[in-house]
Amino acid sequence: MARVHNFSAGPSAMPLAVLEKAQSEMLDLAGSGMSVMELSHRSREFQAIIDGAESGIRRLLGVSEDYAVLFLQGGASLQFAMIPLNLRRPGKSADYVDTGSWASKAVKEAKLTGAAKVLWSGKADNYSRIPRAEELKCSPDAEYLHICSNETIGGIRWTRFPETKIPLIADMSSEIFSRPVDVNKFGLIYAGAQKNLGPSGLAVVIIRKDLMGRISGSLPVFLRYSTHAESGSLYNTPNTWAIYMVKLVCEWVESGGGVAAFEKKSAEKAALLYNLIDESEFWRSPVEKESRSVMNVVWRLSREDLEDGFIKQAKEAGFIGLKGHRSVGGIRASIYNAVTLESVEALVAFMKDFERKNG
Ligand SMILES: *Cc1c(COP(=O)(O)O)cnc(C)c1O
Repeated sequence: MARVHNFSAGPSAMPLAVLEKAQSEMLDLAGSGMSVMELSHRSREFQAIIDGAESGIRRLLGVSEDYAVLFLQGGASLQFAMIPLNLRRPGKSADYVDTGSWASKAVKEAKLTGAAKVLWSGKADNYSRIPRAEELKCSPDAEYLHICSNETIGGIRWTRFPETKIPLIADMSSEIFSRPVDVNKFGLIYAGAQKNLGPSGLAVVIIRKDLMGRISGSLPVFLRYSTHAESGSLYNTPNTWAIYMVKLVCEWVESGGGVAAFEKKSAEKAALLYNLIDESEFWRSPVEKESRSVMNVVWRLSREDLEDGFIKQAKEAGFIGLKGHRSVGGIRASIYNAVTLESVEALVAFMKDFERKNG
């Protein structure tokens, strides 16, 4: 069996132990004589799975009973629309911070259905940093402040979250489970699963229950958070396979020491890459040091004409997914929880070798 070093941004590497566990249960899940994909979502077996996924998330992030944990379809992208539709009441506005591709998609979607104000944008600086606290002034009457806590494409993250009086909403798609967060500081946290949680096609939403009081009765039933909260994410047939995989990932994160342990491992992996990039003129980081992501490490070669060759040779050597997003180019290594230290060490060795031959 030849497994590659997978640095893809999403869908991305899954923990080998989780894949093996799923494989071992594929034909007969918990004595049911069926795979999880063949089970009714109303069955006792599936109820245990979705309960396990929810309680895993609650334990790992310290989510209290003041919050609902929802498993929704439509990925993180549908959340860009659902958040303003549910939580911005008629005639009101919401605040956004534009830190990159994903944050700006959220802004665009919010503006389609009402008022949204961009408090700060990094666009003119090529999205190379997160704003400082003194650069952000929330509107006193805004319904919420939306941020993207880690910009998957630009490779920047909020090291510290803004302090707000209005509910803080964060797209944590590409960094959930990689750092402890005080959920009580947020009104809503959401994440597409395909980076740090499991397969694509599923979004996890953690929402403070009282905010659901804002939801209008004229909103389509399926688009209301309350619909899914009241039905335990079983209003319609959910993505049962993905929920099962999220449960296994939760168990794997817990057995690996929890979110705090993965924060340490992530810092160690990221430092290996950033140290190499900083040490030599051959490589170059396009983002401000204080804002650097520990999940998506982006860099350039000083000689950009060597980048295509680097990506090609890396691929031949078994390093997959290193091409930067098509909108920005360059190189990107996504080093989510499932990417091992050994894979990062092997990449660093490959980079040093490439530099020796081309520098
Ligand atoms: C991947 C990603 C998304 C989009 O997720 P989908 O599940 O494809 O909708 C949104 N936000 C961030 C930060 C992401 O990394």
